[in-house]
Amino acid sequence: MMNAPTSMHHNGPMLVKGWCPGAIRPMAARDGLVVRIRPPAGWLSPAQAQGIAVLAGRWAQPVLELTNRANLQLRGVDPAHHVSLLQGLRALGLVDADAAHEARRNVQVQPFWMEGDITPVLAQSLGSQLARNEAPALPAKFGFAVDTGPVPCLRDSHADIRLESHPGGVLVYADGADHGVLSSPQTAAQTALALAHWFLHSGGAPAGRGRMSALLRQRPLPVEWRQTPVARDRMAVPAPGPNAAGYLVGFPFGLLQASALAALGSHGALRLTPWRALLVEGAKELPAVPELITGPNDVRLRVAACTGTPGCGQSQGFTRPLALELAPLVPPGQRLHVSGCPKGCAHPKAAVTVVTTASGLNLVRWGTADSLPDHRGLDPSSLKQQLQQVFTDAAQL
Ligand code: SF4
Repeated sequence: MMNAPTSMHHNGPMLVKGWCPGAIRPMAARDGLVVRIRPPAGWLSPAQAQGIAVLAGRWAQPVLELTNRANLQLRGVDPAHHVSLLQGLRALGLVDADAAHEARRNVQVQPFWMEGDITPVLAQSLGSQLARNEAPALPAKFGFAVDTGPVPCLRDSHADIRLESHPGGVLVYADGADHGVLSSPQTAAQTALALAHWFLHSGGAPAGRGRMSALLRQRPLPVEWRQTPVARDRMAVPAPGPNAAGYLVGFPFGLLQASALAALGSHGALRLTPWRALLVEGAKELPAVPELITGPNDVRLRVAACTGTPGCGQSQGFTRPLALELAPLVPPGQRLHVSGCPKGCAHPKAAVTVVTTASGLNLVRWGTADSLPDHRGLDPSSLKQQLQQVFTDAAQL
């Protein structure tokens, strides 16, 4: 692993803000440490889910965050309590041998697998091979997608190497490529690691940073990695609701109370997804937890908002309460992004975007948080009028 910027404190090295956090190396934020849990194979047993809820109640804020990399994050951890929290997580089997192993084990897993499918076996195998000492020393953000369901569902999620089902076995390919190589389910993890080695040997991570798609823009993939075409079929981002594998449940802005995690864990094992939703394994119904999003028509699915004030020092206003207030104005199929500043952490893609500023609310009719605004300095009621107009215009297109 590359050298990360560190600052020492009494519990050992702690990463400075801006680094990709883990459990062993958390990130310092304004409200304490951010401790990111990467459940092996994207799966939490009922005991692990309930154990995390207990630890959150003891050592962190009672609200947990689901990330767009299918991880679970605790916030507000006092640095003095980090070691105790880690001990608790280690007892649950959720901590790697060391920070280097933790940083490498970056695997997203399609959550709709059924008992006996290759997906969980492949995810486990890839995770354990990445945790070996001889595994490639990949950049912290470099990741794998085990997307081996009938139709890929993780194409919109960050990954550098993708594994997908193919009539001839498992197709392993580089993100950004339109061809890959076929492997058997037994050798697919090994093939994926070989591709990761090619990435490193080809200079994909100068100074320890880099992504596969950026490398492919600079140099062609060797022909041996371009044998079999990648299928065009893909699944749209799935909406909450019951399915054959269980119940997919969402949370506003990916935030869930520790008590909700415990309640869901008592219904079944939990599979993490990059859509800030959890799949409750085998569940046909859900416990009565108020903040759950259980169906596709919930208006809260149509808004994205970053932490905003007071959690983020860059923010010029309250983002999530505003997004919830505006959500009923957003028609089905449309998306509204509310950002505390032009950085736009919550939704880097184009959308109807509201940005809080010191002099009121800016509105970008279609763009990202750093686009030139179409309206500046609006108050909430004129913002609502403008939004209604924007969505009416969009419906007429
Ligand atoms: S978009 Fe700006 S205000 Fe929001 S979390 Fe990111 S840096 Fe903070």
